[in-house]
Amino acid sequence: MTLPERPEPKPGIMEIAAYVPGRESAPGVAKVWKLSSNETPLGPSPAALEAIEAARRHLELYPDGSATSLREAIAEVHGLNPANILCSNGSDELLGLLAQTYLGPGDEGIYSEHGFLVYRIQILAAGATPVVAKEKDERADVDAILAAVTGRTKIVFLANPNNPTGTYLPVDEVRRLQAGLPRHVLLVLDAAYAEYVRRNDYEAGIELVSSSNNVVMTRTFSKIYGLAGLRIGWMYAPAHVIDAVNRVRGPFNVNALAIAAGATAIRDRAHVERAVAHNETWREWLTRELGKLGLRVTPSIGNFLLIHFPPEGGKTAEAADSFLTARGYILRRVSSYGFPNALRMTVGLEEANRGVVAALSEFMGA
Ligand SMILES: *Cc1c(COP(=O)(O)O)cnc(C)c1O
Repeated sequence: MTLPERPEPKPGIMEIAAYVPGRESAPGVAKVWKLSSNETPLGPSPAALEAIEAARRHLELYPDGSATSLREAIAEVHGLNPANILCSNGSDELLGLLAQTYLGPGDEGIYSEHGFLVYRIQILAAGATPVVAKEKDERADVDAILAAVTGRTKIVFLANPNNPTGTYLPVDEVRRLQAGLPRHVLLVLDAAYAEYVRRNDYEAGIELVSSSNNVVMTRTFSKIYGLAGLRIGWMYAPAHVIDAVNRVRGPFNVNALAIAAGATAIRDRAHVERAVAHNETWREWLTRELGKLGLRVTPSIGNFLLIHFPPEGGKTAEAADSFLTARGYILRRVSSYGFPNALRMTVGLEEANRGVVAALSEFMGA
C-alpha cells in the first residue's frame, strides 16, 4: 500500500464549499449599510453592554464551563428546565456538535433544497452524506423530506423560519414531520429567527422537544439580540442529547463576556419588543415598495427579504448587487442557495430601507 506524500483530510472534507459570509465593505463608498447578514440594526440591549463592562474585569479566569447563569436566564424567560439547555459558541457550533455526535461515515443527513448551507457543511465534516429534499414554492416540503429518509438517515436539519427564503412551516406541519420520522432519527429545528415571528400557527419547537425523544431546538443571540460578534447559541433538548453533546463540546465553549451579556440581554424584553415592532413595520413597507417596482419578494416572517429579479431584460441580481454596492447598500448574493437571480436583504434602519428602494427604483427604471 502506498502512503500519501502529505497529510490528507478525511473523506468528505474536500467536498465542502467553505461558507462565504455576507460582505461588509463597499470599496470607495463613504457610508456603508451592511444588510447582508441579518444582523439587527438596533444593536444589543444597553444593559448587556453594561454587563460586559463588569465581566471584563476578570478575564484571567476561565468562564463557568456549564454557563449556568446563562442557562438559568434562558430557562427563566422561556419557562424551561435549565438542565435541558446547552449553550455554545454561536448556534453554528451546535449544528456541528450535533452532526459530530450523531453522524459518521455511511450515515445520511437531510436538509431542504434552499436550506441553510451550514447543514451541508457539517454533514460532510462529520464524514456523512448530505441528502437534499426538494422544496415546494420556496418552502420546505414535509412529504419530500419524509420520502428522502432511508435506513441510513440519522439526522434532519430544518431551519424554521428558513434562511434565505424567510418562509416557515406551521406547527402542524412540523408535528407531521416528526410523527413521520423513525424514532432514532434526530430532528434539528433551527429557530434562529423565532423571536421575530408573530404568527399563531408558528411554534419554535419547545413543545415538540418536551413531548418527544428525537427533537432538539437551536436558538441564537446573533439575530434579534444583536450579539452576533460575541457568538452565543443554545439548544433545548432531551436529557440524553444534552448528555451526549456535553461529552463532545469544548469544556469552555462559551466565553465569560458572552455568558454575562447573554444572561442580561435575554431579560431585556422591552428591547426585543422594539426590535420586533421595527421589523414588522419595515418588512411590510419593503415588501410593498419592492413589489411596486415589479420585483417579486418571497413572503417572509423573518428580518430579511428574498428579492427576485426578472430573468428577462438584463436586470440581473448580479447587476443589481453592483448597482447597490456602488451606493453603499450591501445585500447578499444567494446563488449558492439555488437563487442565482435573487438578493437577500436584511431589514435595516429607515434610512437604509428607503435608500435601497430608491436605488432599486433607479436600477429598474434605467
Ligand atoms: C444566522 C443563523 C444562525 C445563527 O448562527 P450563529 O452561529 O448563532 O450566529 C443559525 N441558523 C440560521 C438559519 C441562521 O440564519
